[in-house]
Amino acid sequence: MTVYSGPVFDMAVNQFGVIANHLSIPMDERDRLLLPKRAITVSCPIHRDDGTIAVYQGYRVQHHLTLGPTKGGTRFAPSVDIGEVAALAIWMSWKCALVGLPYGGAKGGISVDVAAISKRELEALSRRYMQEMIPFVGPHTDVMAPDMGTNEQVMAWFMDTYSMYQGRTVTEIVTGKPVASGGTLGRREATGRGVAYLAKRVMLELALPLSGGTAVVQGFGNVGSYAALELHSYGLKVIAVSDHTGALFDANGLDIPALMKHTAKHGSIKGFSTQLAFDPAEILTLRCDVLAPCAMERVIDAAVAERLQCRVLAEGANGPTTPDADLVLDNRRDEVFLIPDILCNSGGVVVSYFEWVQDLQQLFWEEEEVMRREYKILDRAFEAMSARAKADNISHRTAAMAIGVEKVRAAKATRGLFP
Ligand code: NAD
Repeated sequence: MTVYSGPVFDMAVNQFGVIANHLSIPMDERDRLLLPKRAITVSCPIHRDDGTIAVYQGYRVQHHLTLGPTKGGTRFAPSVDIGEVAALAIWMSWKCALVGLPYGGAKGGISVDVAAISKRELEALSRRYMQEMIPFVGPHTDVMAPDMGTNEQVMAWFMDTYSMYQGRTVTEIVTGKPVASGGTLGRREATGRGVAYLAKRVMLELALPLSGGTAVVQGFGNVGSYAALELHSYGLKVIAVSDHTGALFDANGLDIPALMKHTAKHGSIKGFSTQLAFDPAEILTLRCDVLAPCAMERVIDAAVAERLQCRVLAEGANGPTTPDADLVLDNRRDEVFLIPDILCNSGGVVVSYFEWVQDLQQLFWEEEEVMRREYKILDRAFEAMSARAKADNISHRTAAMAIGVEKVRAAKATRGLFP
């Protein structure tokens, strides 16, 4: 039992236990690898529009500092608590190590329903959260990015607040900023593009035709919408998508560019079509070539895993599959090709890393350069995962996490234990 205990943290602990057993990591080394280095909890008071004061709980967890600064998104959602944030920070560590970035994992967030506050309140909350975090973050300490419920605008407010306190512009304090204030081309699209790129790679390896192939996407935010758009551009029919307001289904393929225009204007898929409305509870078990859960964690449990009818499971969200479901998928390895989250959605942190590098150097790249380098890193990590899974006869998730854990472990072993 730790301060982090809860369903999402327990899932990260459970997954780590599988990897640690597989790697025969001695018991006395495990806590050092797993338990977060630092956890910060802050109270963020703001003036509401009605003149009252409201206080929101904010968190930041920095998992390990062994390889460089920590890196990770900031989530604004009612579900956010210290355990969820810690689990997401741990997954970020394995992800960054898997793809070879010089970072430890971090995550942060505020327990807030962004739909229930005004834009002015959101700005006040974002700025206050960053202000509270200033003693604990920095371009070489901990670099934030967007996640569920936050976006480029929130990152711009974070960067501006930090810069005001430093007395100079410090663009490299956050990634996922607007291009106009030091962001990189290709970051907005990076995570979804990476999900689609890897799904395409697997389809080609499985000799599944792209043209006329089918895809289903849960979640139509940053990750889901760009994954859907890219799959659509490869010639797949995106037959179903969903978000927190409902789901849409069209066997002939949804008009994804039109749906993106609609969500940009209205904030959700609601109101796009009444004819195409569909039961969101059914979306994950539709028959399709590619299923991309791109919303939230723990949506695929053992019962859903038994009923999956996709050929490729491309995990755009973090932690969408529970450990029980992993056991089911392990027995269905020949039917469902899993691209695990820490690989599948890593395009986001890879391009965040490019943004940080460009900001530090004040030398900016063309979008083609960003995409070429992103895909190269994803290919390399995919090949490492596949080779490891085959060599050890283990699942793709175990293989991907084993590579990540091994890299962190090797760095800790060679640096030693201070003092
Ligand atoms: P977002 O806030 O932009 O979008 C989230 C989407 O999920 C929205 O469309 C929302 O309506 C939908 N959603 C919420 N509850 C839902 C429900 N019950 N059923 C169906 N849809 C629901 O967030 P995002 O940045 O796209 O992140 C989505 C996931 O991807 C998260 O797990 C996040 O940690 C992960 N991720 C994001 C990035 C990134 O670069 N943004 C990178 C790696 C991983």
